[in-house]
Amino acid sequence: MSTVFDVTSLARENIRKLVPYMSARRLGGNGDIWLNANEYHAAPDFQFSEKTLNRYPECQPAAVIQRYADYAGLLPEQVLVSRGADEAIELLLRTFCEPGKDAVIFCPPTYGMYGVSAETFGVAQKKILAGSDWQPNITAIKNNLDNVKLIYICSPNNPTGNLISSSALRQILELASNRAIVAIDEAYIEFSPQNTTTHWLKEYPHLVILRTLSKAFALAGLRCGFTLASADIIALMLKVIAPYPLATPVADIAAQALTAQGIRAMQERVEETIANRAYLQDALDKLILVEKVFPSETNYILVRFTNADFVFRTLWDQGIILRDQQKQPELENCLRITVGSRSECEQLITAIDALCKQNQQVQETENP
Ligand SMILES: *Cc1c(COP(=O)(O)O)cnc(C)c1O
Repeated sequence: MSTVFDVTSLARENIRKLVPYMSARRLGGNGDIWLNANEYHAAPDFQFSEKTLNRYPECQPAAVIQRYADYAGLLPEQVLVSRGADEAIELLLRTFCEPGKDAVIFCPPTYGMYGVSAETFGVAQKKILAGSDWQPNITAIKNNLDNVKLIYICSPNNPTGNLISSSALRQILELASNRAIVAIDEAYIEFSPQNTTTHWLKEYPHLVILRTLSKAFALAGLRCGFTLASADIIALMLKVIAPYPLATPVADIAAQALTAQGIRAMQERVEETIANRAYLQDALDKLILVEKVFPSETNYILVRFTNADFVFRTLWDQGIILRDQQKQPELENCLRITVGSRSECEQLITAIDALCKQNQQVQETENP
């Protein structure tokens, strides 16, 4: 063959232009202390009881659906299980949005996959910046509802760590009534369970709630998430989902994680994380390189440093991997820190404290 064919030219234009989501794993790093993906620091133990791998799995494994419905206080027909909450974010787009015609709304700074998924499906994105208190700008949402079929609201919000107020959530649901789906991403709700919106499903037929086993359930590697919604919305999404979205071992372990014992273990992890979070907030507050520690209802803390690049790179070189949030609007000099084990929290504080002292010495030699 004489000419070199560039396959890239075959790809859809939006895919050629797409900047992929940089997951913590893709970003790499050579760490001992991983505080960049909001994972739990230790692996829960499970047995494989389902060994019938010669057979295709159930599309919606009944035990998993029933147990999640019981856990959420809903009926099984209000629950869909998928390959992580990330797949549910995509399924909503594919179920409700016409490419090239409809649009989605989300409110940066927030979770990156809403934008990436909308882009890959050719659905327009209306980004309505959150206000200074990280609450959604209701007036701007109201003024931008043309062609909008889907509104993603993350509460508690990643990466800022705050809850969206229930009055803001209600106002958005009212604005979207009869015209758009409102998807409330509750990936971190186990750290603040009293703030779930599941009991609003009776009132709002266009409300969808996204959940995951990746965070408080400590199963990010399992890839298992849930959609909670009216039976009608679940039925529509079941038309779109792949025939076998969950591998048999995934369903097997998810069912174990959702037993009474599994839920108790999750709640104990949440208590441990909240105690470590208080320790970390307190210690960070005292450090001179720290400008602001944002309040958190989650298993991570957003922190504004005087020089985030310096902190991020120096800790990275020491094997402590944090998440740089500076590419998000309004988050200049901000890093997101997952709350790890107590020992990881202590090592982090020791490392930043050493940086503070080093920085002070540099300043003293420069300005004696
Ligand atoms: C981690 C996360 C998800 C993805 O959850 P998976 O179930 O692991 O796909 C979704 N939304 C938010 C806000 C998250 O932080």
